[in-house]
Amino acid sequence: MVEIDKSKPVMVTGATGYVAGWIVKKLLDEGLTVHAAVRNPNNEEKIKYLKLLAASSKGQIKFFKADLLEKSSYDDAVKNCELVFHTASPFSNRVKDPQKELIDPALEGTRNVLDSVNKSETVKRVVLTSSVAAIMGDTKDLLDIPNRIATEENWNISSSLTHQPYSYSKTLAEKEAWNINEKQNKWDLVVINPTLVLGPGISPAITSESYKLMQQLGDGSMKMGVPDFQIGVVDVRDVAEAHYKAGFTPEAKGRHIVNAESKTFLQIADLVRKNYGDKVILQTKTLPKWVVWLAAPTAGLKRKFVTKNVGYPWTVDNRKSIEKLGIEYRPLEVTVNDFFEQMIDNGAFEKA
Ligand code: NAP
Repeated sequence: MVEIDKSKPVMVTGATGYVAGWIVKKLLDEGLTVHAAVRNPNNEEKIKYLKLLAASSKGQIKFFKADLLEKSSYDDAVKNCELVFHTASPFSNRVKDPQKELIDPALEGTRNVLDSVNKSETVKRVVLTSSVAAIMGDTKDLLDIPNRIATEENWNISSSLTHQPYSYSKTLAEKEAWNINEKQNKWDLVVINPTLVLGPGISPAITSESYKLMQQLGDGSMKMGVPDFQIGVVDVRDVAEAHYKAGFTPEAKGRHIVNAESKTFLQIADLVRKNYGDKVILQTKTLPKWVVWLAAPTAGLKRKFVTKNVGYPWTVDNRKSIEKLGIEYRPLEVTVNDFFEQMIDNGAFEKA
């Protein structure tokens, strides 16, 4: 049981990120002081949305310069904090050097952040933004799980440096966080494992892979059809709520799958079509798996990925997040509509 004193500041790593933006908003709206750890506090363009949030809320924000790859980088930001949200980690499926671009910042970054936490005399709880990618690697892996439904008990055992390296980076980082946590007794660890996060950003300049995926869905680049690929999806505002509850629910414990619904890309496209069918170019059919397999390299996909992920149902158990954190998930239609409204307003599909 950990009670957090709300008069103390709260650190958020990667505060300029898509998911972090909504966590910061929630904290500020609750009147808290946020220590926003960002790579470049002088990048006005990037931090102006956070400053605007602070200006219209009861809370306060202070910026600190920190980099996942620099030792002791988070020492200043963590000062006087009882609660830390560690969200920073590169999220990309298009990297040239997975070790350097994904694994090192995720793993070394987790070590560096938790090292600063260990040095602090005040931190009582760390909430880590992991991913469902640390629970499950390939969709086909579900065939080996009881009832074919992944739970918080499962760990990704199929990703590697060469196969799904982003998922591998999240698995290594979460395992390392648990290892570091077990070696001390000053702070406890609560983990959030979201599925694909969608919904509007607090800044329209979203860099997350979530944005790039949805942009591809509406810009015509997949107009021939989409792979029969099922995925869990959750609203970014519900993910932020889950982090907040994980931070401030004294009895919160362990991992939490945060997922609203499981959908195929075609089902997501159908949701967009209802309101924005005239503004974006959407898919109307699913491509046969063999076509996707053959075309994979030209679409930037690995054939092994297609073999192990296309054409399988995808199911995870989100009951713990509902029962223990009290999350009420928004319908996906709302998430997708709000996301596409923002993307269209910001010209994301102007070349479509
Ligand atoms: P994002 O907008 O790209 O955020 C990533 C954040 O990590 C950015 O704030 C970025 O800082 C920071 N970062 C990257 N490398 C860093 C470094 N070397 N030093 C310091 N900060 C660094 O992506 P996101 O979707 O919000 O992802 C946030 C977290 O959610 C990640 O841990 C991700 O794995 C997790 N997650 C995301 C999804 C999803 O679907 N979006 C699903 C499950 C889990 P800059 O702003 O300076 O670039």
